[in-house]
Amino acid sequence: MTTNVILLGPPGAGKGTQAKTLSERTSLTHVASGDLFRAALREGTELGMLAKAYMDRGELVPNEVVIGMILERIAQPDCASGVIFDGFPRTREQAVALESSLAKQNSTIAAVLYLRVPNEVLLRRIAGRQTCKTCGATYNIYYFPSHRPGICDACGGRLYQRSDDSMETAQHRLDVYFEQTMPLIEYYQRQGNLFEIDGQQEISWVTDAMLKALGKYLVTSAQPKE
Ligand code: ADP
Ligand code: AMP
Repeated sequence: MTTNVILLGPPGAGKGTQAKTLSERTSLTHVASGDLFRAALREGTELGMLAKAYMDRGELVPNEVVIGMILERIAQPDCASGVIFDGFPRTREQAVALESSLAKQNSTIAAVLYLRVPNEVLLRRIAGRQTCKTCGATYNIYYFPSHRPGICDACGGRLYQRSDDSMETAQHRLDVYFEQTMPLIEYYQRQGNLFEIDGQQEISWVTDAMLKALGKYLVTSAQPKE
């Protein structure tokens, strides 16, 4: 039995930041739909070009495209011991497709960690986000800038600002979240596996809260790494 975890929350809630740390501290593999689209775009694939049109507008990429991409990704061997889903599912249709695909492998979603963050904080986080082109580490010009401007502390790579992090697109992404993704909170609440985490706290506090929530699942199948 594998441990699969979903990080649910609005854009800017800290899903990517936390998923990166959790994957380093457990045997779970980080799978981020947005990262997969950005990688496809860098490689100039058809999938990347298709996704770009939606991402630029802050719209969701069509369900069948995202679902196909994610199911293909989690069939790879590095996902066998469990996955941390970041940015997926974002609609009810995606959630149902994920569940039925996992069920075929006798697997389930162990826990859904919902990061709650007030709107005004989200916009500031998105506006200040900087991401490393090389290793994907995330910084924030307001909250914790890199030591050397524009350069990643971890690997020396170049930092960039995502084009969909402009104020206008970010606001629209939040609207899309409220309309299409927020209903998943209730959906998972009903299933009884949703944990709400205060995402406004410091990053390390949030990580600890997540590890605590995942405790019983990590004991059996995804021991924290030393
Ligand atoms: P998401 O993946 O949910 O869109 P990110 O993990 O990319 O969000 O975080 C958005 C921005 O907020 C980044 O600049 C990140 O460094 C910053 N951030 C993440 N968590 C926190 C936190 N707990 N406190 C302050 N800033 C944070
Ligand atoms: P993210 O990196 O999670 O902020 O996602 C960036 C963009 O990628 C989103 O605004 C969407 O256009 C697209 N995207 C990522 N994940 C999904 C998903 N699960 N469903 C639809 N579109 C997605």
